[in-house]
Amino acid sequence: MTEPANKRACEEPTSKMIEYPGEDPAVRRFREFLSVWTVSLTSLESPGPQPDYDGAVRFLEREAKDIGLPFKCFELAPNRPVVIISWEGSEPSLPSIMLNCHTDVVPVYQDKWECDAFAGYKRENGDIVARGSQDMKCVGCWYLEAVRNLRAAGKSFKRSIHMTFVPDEEVGSVHGMKALVKREDFKQLNVGFCLDEGLASPSDVFTVFYAERSGWWFTIHCPGNPGHGSRFIENTAVEKVRKILNKALDYRDAQEGKLKADPAMKLGDVTSLNVTMLGGGIQWNVVPDAMSLGLDIRVTLSDSHQEVMEMVEGWVREAGEDCTIDFFTKNVKSPVVCTDDTDPWWSAFSGACHKHDMKLEKEIFPAATDSRVIRPLGIPALGFSAINHTPILLHDHNEFLNERVFLRGISIYEDLISNLASVDEQ
Ligand code: ZN
Repeated sequence: MTEPANKRACEEPTSKMIEYPGEDPAVRRFREFLSVWTVSLTSLESPGPQPDYDGAVRFLEREAKDIGLPFKCFELAPNRPVVIISWEGSEPSLPSIMLNCHTDVVPVYQDKWECDAFAGYKRENGDIVARGSQDMKCVGCWYLEAVRNLRAAGKSFKRSIHMTFVPDEEVGSVHGMKALVKREDFKQLNVGFCLDEGLASPSDVFTVFYAERSGWWFTIHCPGNPGHGSRFIENTAVEKVRKILNKALDYRDAQEGKLKADPAMKLGDVTSLNVTMLGGGIQWNVVPDAMSLGLDIRVTLSDSHQEVMEMVEGWVREAGEDCTIDFFTKNVKSPVVCTDDTDPWWSAFSGACHKHDMKLEKEIFPAATDSRVIRPLGIPALGFSAINHTPILLHDHNEFLNERVFLRGISIYEDLISNLASVDEQ
């Protein structure tokens, strides 16, 4: 019998980090972070191994010590530690700069990878092939390496800088950013601006994200009449599921059509829908008394949440009696961060990019990041990863980042951080 796919995806690795003598120490530290097995599964209560957040904390504590900055760590739930490494500014009463990184990564299908996904493997051309190399341990290491260099160069800034390393982003942030922002520890940071993750870009442009679609994850329960598998039972659960599926997939086709018809449109500009789970049934000859569908909808900024909700409720109502909707996540509409040159944060950000001759493209983030928790607090957050000329491989097999792209990113972040931490009082 073959193993279920989800078991394969959740196995802990046994190997250790591979050594490449003579490499840049910053690259080695990056590969070391990548080798920590911080795979987060669906919930704190999930069976199977828990992410090695302790390993991540040990790595970060050593980094903070090395760089010479205070290190703070506390749990948001059992085995859900957050780390905050702070560099106090010369005017600490000014709102601070938050540099955010989630420490967890998604599982891998190890047999589909060319190498151990948690060994920091490096191809001959310098591609570092590891889970988290794009999403988003690279960004966390960029913060650390840039701050390390700025301090070594004797720089100081007026605004305080807080590097936050949070758990559980990949599983909804309930025991991560959502818990952190409720704490007094977060209020004390007095955050004025936040940098968070973006996406790789296959072309020469770099993408920066000023808002994101609102993710809705929910289950539709469809009860129905059970009976013998040989009969034409009326009003079955599966018939209700079929009605909903047809309407949902028609809507999906229409949105996909809209995106493909206009080359100027990006994924974040339309509402996406996927049926991601189907459940029910116990045996071949038993008509099930209930079925369920799991849906993932990402509502774009220009679509009305109320209208999308009414549409889904309509599908469910028309499917037949007693069908119900059960939300796991229903994110509110994302505030939009100002990206015109009159905005001091934006000009600090874009100024650093111009210094490096980077072509910037502003987009709506198609998926979800911890910025969805930050922006509604009135804190502007930009999503950015300094990755171009690289295929988008987050959550995919053989996710990689070339070490040259990584090394160049360090100097980009040095300027981003310098500019942002020097923004005048507003
Ligand atoms: Zn991420």
